[in-house]
Parts: sequence; C-alpha cells; structure tokens
Amino acid sequence: MSIDILAFGAHPDDVECAAAGVILKTISRQGKVVIADLTKGELGSFGDEHTRNKEAAEASKKLGLFAREQLNLMDGNIENTHENRLKVIEIIRKYQPKIILANAVFDRHSDHKKAADLIREASFLSGLRKIETYHQGKAQHKWRSRAVYNYIQDYFIKPDVVVDISDFFNQKTEVIKAYETQFLTAADPSAVGILNLLKQIESTNQIFGRAIGVKYAEGFTCERYIGTKDLMDLI
Ligand SMILES: [Zn+2]
Repeated sequence: MSIDILAFGAHPDDVECAAAGVILKTISRQGKVVIADLTKGELGSFGDEHTRNKEAAEASKKLGLFAREQLNLMDGNIENTHENRLKVIEIIRKYQPKIILANAVFDRHSDHKKAADLIREASFLSGLRKIETYHQGKAQHKWRSRAVYNYIQDYFIKPDVVVDISDFFNQKTEVIKAYETQFLTAADPSAVGILNLLKQIESTNQIFGRAIGVKYAEGFTCERYIGTKDLMDLI
C-alpha cells in the first residue's frame, strides 16, 4: 500500500485546522490521504471520548480520507521515547506515504512541538532496515518518505512553502465545523469561539495566499531544501 499523504496531529482537529485545504486538494485529484491522531485529546475541556470520536469520524468523512488512525499516546504528555517512535514508524511503514505532514515546530500547545520532534525522528528511523517493527504479527519493510512538512497552526511562523488552496477554503471551514464540542457548542454557546477561530484561520490563509498572488494558501516549513525540477513550476 502506498498513499500520498500521511498527516499526523497531536490532537484530533490539529490537521484539519492547519492543512485541510491541501488534503482536500490532494483527494480531489484521486490522491489517498490518511490522518493519524497521536492522542484522543482527552485533556480537552469540552466533549468526551465518544463525542470527540464522532466528530473526528465526521471530519474524516467530509475530507474523504482513505483511513484514520489513533495512536493512543498520552494527551498533554507526548514523549519522544523509543516506544512511541516505534508506534509512529509502524504507521508510516503500514501506509508508505510519499510525504508526511506533522505539527508546527513551535506552537502555543506544548504537545505540538513535541509531536513535531517525535514525527521527524520516527520518519528518519523508519528508513533504517535494522529497526524492526511489526504490523499484525508480520515484519514490516523500511520506508522513507520524500519529506516531512510541518504545518502552521496557532503561532505565526514564516513558511518555507505555501500551497494555493483557494478552491478548497470553503470546504475546509465546513470540515472544521465538524468539531462541534471544541468550537461550537459547549465551548461557546454563542458560537463566538468558532467564528474567531475561523477568522484567524482565514486571515492566516489570506496572508500566505497574498505572497503568491492567490486568495488562500496554507503554509508549511521543511527542514531540508525544497526541490523542483523546473523553476518555472514555482509560483
Ligand atoms: Zn493540538
């Protein structure tokens, strides 16, 4: 099995808020995308496990995901341990993604940076043959994706690459609204919370879009160089 994008998020809704546009665009071109949530977001003040699972399933449906995985790490305490790296490597090798998306390298929630570190290391180690992992009892093959791109969420970070998502911005906001308990109902019955969040996401996507002359774009950082076969392909 080989998919286009494997997107990791520390909490359900991280990926949707920061990179749903790129995911929708990829799927609209028959691409396959999987989201892997590191935790269930159990420390969140609103919603319980049942409602959060339901919301993540609804968002997955709206996105058209190939699959969604839950790694069951501890919310508020994501650690870059050998055991956790093996869990991440197992998912990478299971889906063999062309590219990997991960949390922002620096952000308001401390889990986000920790998740970024964990995913970066696991993505590299996944390419080493002598690191053994098993899926359903079967030894897995090594797999190295082309690149890990870190999306940009709460804190503003200057992106290394921005992607035009103008045609998918409205759909992206509908996907984010699937997370009712987090942004819409219990969190704020007046719905100001969701409106503020959507406004903030819209502003960020507009700022990134303006730089390349489009209405909306999502931004990403990358540790290695961004490569292209032709400079003319870049906008
Ligand atoms: Zn988060």
